[in-house]
Amino acid sequence: MAGAYHRYHIETRPAPDIVPWPSRFRVKVKRAGLAKLLLKELVQYKADPEVVLSRPCVYGVFSGPIGGFAPREELCVGCLRCTTQYPEWVRVEPNPERQKLGDEYFTFEYVNAVTYEAQTGNVPVKGAGYRGRFGGQGWDGMWTDMSEIVRPTRDGIHGREFISTAVDIGAKPNFLTFDHNGQPNGDTPRTFSLPIPMLFDTPPTSLNSHTLYKTLSQAAEAVQTLAFLPVRAIIDLNLRGAHIVPLVRSADLDLLPILPFRPRMIAIDGWRPGVDSTLYDAIQTRFPDALLCLRTPFCSGDDLLQLVEAGVRVFHLTANYHGRSAEGTFVFDLIRAAHHTLVEAGIRETVTLLGSGGIIAAEHVPKAIIAGLDAVVLDTPLLVALQARLNGRFTNRRSTCQLPKNLTPDWGAQRLQNLMDSWRDQLLEILGAMGLREVRRLRGEMGRAMFQKDLEREAFAGIEGYGGKA
Ligand code: SF4
Repeated sequence: MAGAYHRYHIETRPAPDIVPWPSRFRVKVKRAGLAKLLLKELVQYKADPEVVLSRPCVYGVFSGPIGGFAPREELCVGCLRCTTQYPEWVRVEPNPERQKLGDEYFTFEYVNAVTYEAQTGNVPVKGAGYRGRFGGQGWDGMWTDMSEIVRPTRDGIHGREFISTAVDIGAKPNFLTFDHNGQPNGDTPRTFSLPIPMLFDTPPTSLNSHTLYKTLSQAAEAVQTLAFLPVRAIIDLNLRGAHIVPLVRSADLDLLPILPFRPRMIAIDGWRPGVDSTLYDAIQTRFPDALLCLRTPFCSGDDLLQLVEAGVRVFHLTANYHGRSAEGTFVFDLIRAAHHTLVEAGIRETVTLLGSGGIIAAEHVPKAIIAGLDAVVLDTPLLVALQARLNGRFTNRRSTCQLPKNLTPDWGAQRLQNLMDSWRDQLLEILGAMGLREVRRLRGEMGRAMFQKDLEREAFAGIEGYGGKA
């Protein structure tokens, strides 16, 4: 209906795993101890098998056909109730097979979180009884400041107060100029909005799967975001729609005339002004209404400014899947440097910065935006949500991984929808805690970042045993 207001909503539905993965925990039971307990409880509970066989786990681990003699480990949530009550005959341990999932960067803890989010669309509950570290390397070295003294919190996740997660993609001049008739006579904004600051990257070249392309396309359409897909696949599968961004290399130029639709954005995979000068112009001439996005590795400030000078307004800056540049700099610092370069040059508002690489958890999204991105482009979390096995070291687009053989676009799209809903809820939670009404205001808000190193230095410098620099 014209003028009707539609609140943005992602449809979630349970999407259980389609390949059995190792359970999170191993439940080891001493049969003699269990038998003794059962005998005692047979008397106590008047031989009610339902009660007797379900003890001592309320999650059903001991409720199989032969009870705890064959524990159903896949149901164990690791609450440790059983082993706390009966330490002499039950032990619960992390499953070493499960710990092999993922790779050295996308560790099994991240795999667990992404899998749960993709299965349910819910936010994993962590924190109660947490005995791990509260800091670390990379993203974990930065915390977000949610001080209520600065601003009141807002309630976004439960819907009583609307917090916008919409972002603008495109080119905006710093200011408008008008002729004597009041008509704009200079550059005008060329943007469109997405309801979430999360886009889907093109899969690694090692995974040339039509099912995967269809899955990404279907999910991107459902959550109203963008999927970068190789132009060849788009043509072969006859994919079309505003959610698809063809990824074009110079070798693909001949394919553009047979694209099945007119895209609103086209990504160019690697282009340098002066080296391959015709590519950018050729695409823009063929699709004058489309925004052009340059996909390029994070580069130096001078190179970035040179590209802006050459006309690029939308960047997709890439680090490898472990969040590192070729020189080994972490993606957080790379984003900050790119953002800072544009701010210093007074052109930050004219440019859209998208970034990918190493963003593998919900909390990395707001951190990347605080560092200076407008929106993130997701890569490996999408694959893990689809139960891909990363084979231990999955660093770049040529690395190999295995997707489930029975992957279907419907199941895969639902998993990605669930993941996006869960990550959006977590983003809303952070924005609400910071008192921000929209994610656009989070970009480059370094005042909201606290660094573990700085805080430790402030607290401990000068005290014997402090290992950092004073
Ligand atoms: S740890 Fe908790 S969930 Fe797992 S078997 Fe024991 S009681 Fe059940």
